[in-house]
Amino acid sequence: MADENSGKSSSGVRWLFVGGTGLFVLVLLCGGGLYWFYTSSQAEVEQAVNAFQARLDAEDYEVAYQAIGPEWKLLNSQADFTELESTIFSQLGKLQSKTMLSFNVNEATSGSTAYFIYNCTFEHGQGQVKYSLTKSTGAWRIVGHHVESPALLKVLACPSCSKVMNEFAKFCGECGAKMNR
Ligand SMILES: [Zn+2]
Repeated sequence: MADENSGKSSSGVRWLFVGGTGLFVLVLLCGGGLYWFYTSSQAEVEQAVNAFQARLDAEDYEVAYQAIGPEWKLLNSQADFTELESTIFSQLGKLQSKTMLSFNVNEATSGSTAYFIYNCTFEHGQGQVKYSLTKSTGAWRIVGHHVESPALLKVLACPSCSKVMNEFAKFCGECGAKMNR
């Protein structure tokens, strides 16, 4: 009887041990899989960001607009987009170099989203740039381009009341005066 009991308990211990190892291997595999997924997505998203920025640097707004995501096209016509991006370009010039501050990707069946934030050096100043992307029709597309730079204050501050706008606007949100564009 004593032998039977010890046999049972030792097989119990063995099962726990094997179970534990299995879990450990599974966690390792998941970790490796996630790492691979993360780096491959990051490369894809970064490629889309670089292609978009290259079109802006070439002042090729027509091609840049064609490549943006449907979410952004709903908000801005090609004329609006061109005015916005050419205003930023006229103040900052071409991108010279960038350092990544943060990156986030979330791939889901309901819709995949990603963003990159960089510290950028432009021809005429420094700025922090955020690119937002969604994945549509199998490709990552830019749906937001947010630039924060002291060099943009000139076009963001109202010439009449000096109120600084968060976004580019044709008229001041405070006093209604026409903005410098
Ligand atoms: Zn104003």
